[in-house]
Amino acid sequence: MTNGLENVAEGAGLGETLHQRARRALEEVCSRYGIDASSVYLMPMGGRNGGLGNAIPLPIPFRRRYLLRYHRCMRDADPLALRGLFAHELMHVVHYAHASYGELMRFVWRYLLFLATAGTRFGWLESWGRALEHLTDLMAVQRGEGASLAAWKRFKARAIRRGDICDALHEMYLSSAEVDAFHRSGDELQARIDHSVTALRGRDELHPFRRPAA
Ligand SMILES: [Zn+2]
Repeated sequence: MTNGLENVAEGAGLGETLHQRARRALEEVCSRYGIDASSVYLMPMGGRNGGLGNAIPLPIPFRRRYLLRYHRCMRDADPLALRGLFAHELMHVVHYAHASYGELMRFVWRYLLFLATAGTRFGWLESWGRALEHLTDLMAVQRGEGASLAAWKRFKARAIRRGDICDALHEMYLSSAEVDAFHRSGDELQARIDHSVTALRGRDELHPFRRPAA
């Protein structure tokens, strides 16, 4: 879905377009997470608002399909950082795959409300969104994607500094330094996962990695 000029620029060297590189990174992470890659559609996006990517469950009854979008400025990312984007976004897909259809639609509405009210007085949604995004990052680290996740976060911080994107929610995510630290220490990682799970429990019947009732 890129235009001809982008293809020339992206293909310089390896002869692979950004979309082909993205698809390959997506399939690698899908295989690590146990996701059927054919259930995930990949689409590029532009614009300055909205971060570097997102994962959206598609409202198709009886067929689980997901739309995963990546920003075109990822053409400047190295393979590890590109993979890190999918390490985060596909962890959302792992979460969606565990939900019933009704839960998924409720979640979508809640997340849209979270986006619309971020930075306003609806603080309870903000802390919910923060805990959800932290847990998504932490679980990606636990699945062995700490290095790629940190590389993606470093790339994202640079993209914001350069003005390629403007992500109002940037502060809600773990930083690359935090990801590095959790990547190094399994004990700290587990403690932080427990903390995020507790923060989500009771706030939402649907969260990514809910545990069976004790
Ligand atoms: Zn996310």
